[in-house]
Amino acid sequence: MQVAQVIVDVPARQTNSPFSYSIPDHLADQIQPGMRVQVPFGNRKITGFVVGLSDSSSFNGKLKPIADLIDLYPVVNSELLNLAEWLADQTYSFKISCLQTMLPGGMRTKNQKKLIAKNEQVCQQYPEIFQGQPEVEYDRQKYNNQVLAEILNLQKAGDIQVEYDLTNHARPIMRKAYRGQLNDAQIADALKTVRKNARGQIQLLNLLKTHQNDTLLVSKWASLGVTSATLKAAEKKGWVTSTLKRHVRNPFLRDVAPSQPFKLQPDQQAAVDSIEQAVVHKKDQVFLLEGVTGSGKTEVYLQSIAHALELGRTALMLVPEITLTPQIVGRIRSRFGDQVAMLHSAMSSGERYDEWQRINQGKAKVVVGVRSAVFAPLSNIGLIIMDEEHDSSYKQADNPRYQTRDVAKWRAAYNNCPVVLGSATPSLESRARAMKGVYTLLKLPHRINQHALPHVSIIDMKTELAKHHSALSTKLADAIQVRLDKHEQVILLLNRRGYSAFLMCRDCGYVPRCPNCDISLTMHKNTHTLNCHYCGHKEPVPTVCPQCHSKRIRFYGMGSEQLEEQVKDMFPTARVLRMDVDTTRKKGSHEAIIDQFGAHKADILLGTQMIAKGLDFPEVTLVGVLNADSALQFPDFRSSERTFELLTQVSGRSGRADKTGEVIIQTFNPDHYAIQLAKTQDYEKFYATEMRVRHDGKYPPYYYTVKLTGNSPSENQTASEMFGIMNFLKKQLSPQAIILGPTPKTITRIDNRYYYQIIIKYRKEPQLKATLDEILVQSQKKQRQGLQIAIDNEPLDFM
Ligand code: ADP
Ligand code: ZN
Ligand code: ZN
Repeated sequence: MQVAQVIVDVPARQTNSPFSYSIPDHLADQIQPGMRVQVPFGNRKITGFVVGLSDSSSFNGKLKPIADLIDLYPVVNSELLNLAEWLADQTYSFKISCLQTMLPGGMRTKNQKKLIAKNEQVCQQYPEIFQGQPEVEYDRQKYNNQVLAEILNLQKAGDIQVEYDLTNHARPIMRKAYRGQLNDAQIADALKTVRKNARGQIQLLNLLKTHQNDTLLVSKWASLGVTSATLKAAEKKGWVTSTLKRHVRNPFLRDVAPSQPFKLQPDQQAAVDSIEQAVVHKKDQVFLLEGVTGSGKTEVYLQSIAHALELGRTALMLVPEITLTPQIVGRIRSRFGDQVAMLHSAMSSGERYDEWQRINQGKAKVVVGVRSAVFAPLSNIGLIIMDEEHDSSYKQADNPRYQTRDVAKWRAAYNNCPVVLGSATPSLESRARAMKGVYTLLKLPHRINQHALPHVSIIDMKTELAKHHSALSTKLADAIQVRLDKHEQVILLLNRRGYSAFLMCRDCGYVPRCPNCDISLTMHKNTHTLNCHYCGHKEPVPTVCPQCHSKRIRFYGMGSEQLEEQVKDMFPTARVLRMDVDTTRKKGSHEAIIDQFGAHKADILLGTQMIAKGLDFPEVTLVGVLNADSALQFPDFRSSERTFELLTQVSGRSGRADKTGEVIIQTFNPDHYAIQLAKTQDYEKFYATEMRVRHDGKYPPYYYTVKLTGNSPSENQTASEMFGIMNFLKKQLSPQAIILGPTPKTITRIDNRYYYQIIIKYRKEPQLKATLDEILVQSQKKQRQGLQIAIDNEPLDFM
């Protein structure tokens, strides 16, 4: 008898180790690790992942049998099964959540499946499965064990395809296709027999010479000049057979022209050579590619990927959500064509599922995607690239709270391949590792074609606001006018991090707040409501102040919409485009704005962080930053780093081609080092300055950090539990560990639950892991009283 080890879908500490189930005879040799199954658990049936197989010898006592199969093939490969194990341990989360995180959204919950016959023959041969239909709903109730075994064997042989039936729009699309059945001699014979005027048939026969082994969709045949009537007639003669072929949704929207590799600059060449060496010798070396904006990092990525592909290996390229623009995807596709698969959150679940399938089946060799793409089911990875490695979107905020960089390094070690971390402004953690020799530092200090870095000036908005009340300083307004006159383009960045538009009574200072959370409500002009960004509460915008009945209750703060209005007022002839969450919600709108601006159909592009990165417009010669310091006031030790990064990135958008660029930064803190050093784009000096600050404050990269958050419906309970945890930590850890808190979080109450946190800073604490695991086990027992504890290893958010 065979035994399966199963991780069950019960998020609890006790279920983090696999449970053993016996495999019933009719499923013997069919169950593989990575498949999901249904198992009895207590008095119900639940889902689980098979993570291992063994024989029964080591078990005494009676095991419950697996009730049924959910997947007909493994949906998680052995690498990812191993990774899930490690990830759960690293992030203090449940194995089941890690496994589920790896699957594309649509496959996580739904169990509906379709069986698709490979061709008419299979369909006719197995009426007990297909009842004459080419595509049927998988219905376990209908099959006895013998039919189930038949289905599994057909699946293994490739005679049927199993598709996950997602929601309507996500369902795989199957279309009729035809494939030739004649060899060259038969084609020649057939050509002799057809009538001279049967042009369609002649065309088809000629095409069959070159497409002998291709199964082409009817639409493809049509584009080659063969109608479906011709194909039907040809099928009767036995020239072609019909079958069904998957129509793959195309997430790329448009075709791109192929591009050739550039001849590399010496620094680029040196970088590509080092990376190639590691690829060839299968070394899991980590490179930090540090290059100013416009220094040609992307070209280094592309040519390194090409080397990995030449060796028959695959490549994974990760980019931040915000930079996964059509521009970058276009550049990658122009080099590698249809071998590229893309994964990001703006795609429909159907598109993501299709791309995931193409990767899983080995059809896509290069995967470009955001954070979650680090779990792409690629095999034989030869190179992993992480562009803009410092970006905060690489850290997942919810369970499992992983840092993509760590997962990338794990996969590189597993696949024996290098990782390239690229950035103009590396995270202090990565740069410090490079200085210690843990990473290999590769530098691209020059912009391509020696384009000068833009000239940056800083405007003190304190003196500016004393003179007039406008979002734009006199200098910025003048500079915009100069560009408009010269027919050049302008980008305006409204830094909205930690910034929102709220309502305030000008007479009594009343600000509407969420009834469930300790936070002011945000004004949404399009729906004309006040919304809470934490719990979703909504209410109408009041016209009189509920506190003093004044009518002067007005909107405060500047959103991109207001900025757009002001800019249009000041420059009535300018064509203005706005890019923010509101204007890019619709699919394709992001591309449309970029296309329009790229074609110079607008003079000014204004927007939020979204426009700061990755875009490459040669005619932009002026970048204005409206409120450079809105992040500096954050009670977060990384706020200087974030500000420096953002200003450096956005400055890099100016003067990318022959015309020299200018950058104007408006700020209330003109003397702050993050702003002063962004002016000269002096990363080295910023690194040195910031490392001193971190050293003195005992922050990363000198110290490691862990954040523990606890919440419950009662503030007393949360506080007392967290004090208990603090005392436990003090007892278990060394005196060198720094334990901060517990303190109420900046927003203490969210959805009527009270949040407190503890921060641990440490250098070496061999007991820490075991201590935190123990805290989780203990807190699990108290969950009934409403207490929830979360642990964030190396958090990015300290508020
Ligand atoms: P980064 O990613 O460092 O910001 P890019 O890779 O976008 O820089 O390069 C900036 C510009 O220089 C792009 O337009 C790119 O096509 C071009 N470029 C890159 N490498 C070369 C090269 N070796 N020769 C000529 N042009 C290049
Ligand atoms: Zn009032
Ligand atoms: Zn709320």
